[in-house]
Amino acid sequence: MHEPQLVALREAAASGVDYDGLVVDYDDDGYRFETPEASHDGLSAAEFDDVANDHPRYVSNWHYWSHIRSDADRAFLRWVEGAEDRPLVERYEALETGVSRSWGEVLVTAERAGDGERRYHLRHEDDADVPLDDLEVHDDPLDARRLVKHDDKGRYRPLKTAPTLPHGWAFTDLDGRECTRAVDLVYPATITNWHLEREGELDVDHWAEAIERQTGIYGVVKTWNRGESHEHVNWVAEACCDDSQCLKRREWQYDDETDLDVDGGDGVFPCREPCSLVIAAARKWTRLEGEEPQTYSFELTPSEKEQLEDIVDAVADDRTDEIREADVNEGANRYRARFLRAKLMDDDGNLCGVPTDRATEE
Ligand code: SF4
Repeated sequence: MHEPQLVALREAAASGVDYDGLVVDYDDDGYRFETPEASHDGLSAAEFDDVANDHPRYVSNWHYWSHIRSDADRAFLRWVEGAEDRPLVERYEALETGVSRSWGEVLVTAERAGDGERRYHLRHEDDADVPLDDLEVHDDPLDARRLVKHDDKGRYRPLKTAPTLPHGWAFTDLDGRECTRAVDLVYPATITNWHLEREGELDVDHWAEAIERQTGIYGVVKTWNRGESHEHVNWVAEACCDDSQCLKRREWQYDDETDLDVDGGDGVFPCREPCSLVIAAARKWTRLEGEEPQTYSFELTPSEKEQLEDIVDAVADDRTDEIREADVNEGANRYRARFLRAKLMDDDGNLCGVPTDRATEE
């Protein structure tokens, strides 16, 4: 046991320690030292050190956690190793081989190093079994900023919590601070908000409040409040906040008293307010939904109608890349779509040659 750890524990004894099974305090009779396996009191400083040396795990574990300054970081790192779920001895055994948990799509692995220290490793959860040699290995948490900018197809990721995290990278041998820093760059503010939620202090800004704050070009969204059912906000949440689109668990509702009808999702970390992507999309929808419906007449075969529905579904679910060229049974198959366009759309792109009626917009 390192002397500084013993000194720090003796100093802490004056105000009392009760941590992960270790109980230490000091009174006129001397020091008390307790673990689930041992109980001593009335100890002199030298006796205290001897007893502490016999229980190094408890002391080094307390020392490790007491030196993590941020409550949110500590709570997160303890969550990773399941600190609230199993006793220290069992946990230390598990940490020998590594304990992993998924945070969004990031797999966080904690391992025990010497003197109670932990080391952390990060990678995409799908890469859990990929040999390290086959991954691009980093040790600087700041690299995460660049790594997660684009998805596997090189497309910019405007929403950091979209389930499109690229594969093929790993961070190894991070200390606790570096680990939470990297996670925060992958999924900004998720650790903080998750911690606030656990503490009952998450400050949720519902749709109505968030929209009321919009100014400038986004102020137009305020006009999109029609009807009692707030179904437009349900559509927004269904379109953007579903687990298939965003890994945050939506906690915001229409307002303090009115929940939305759509499910908030199962994400580990909460979403406390409509994000900028949702506000920008809602601005567009506000304009589009301001249009008056028109009546158009099209002639479609039943299969053509179903095919249009299939195409909308495939685009909305981001499945177009999965539809094989040869699979002409799929309505959203590229050849089927091209055939439909060749048959039904004129040179100006009008469906069935029917022009779009925008006369009433002026
Ligand atoms: S508002 Fe919706 S899409 Fe945006 S971060 Fe929150 S849950 Fe995700």
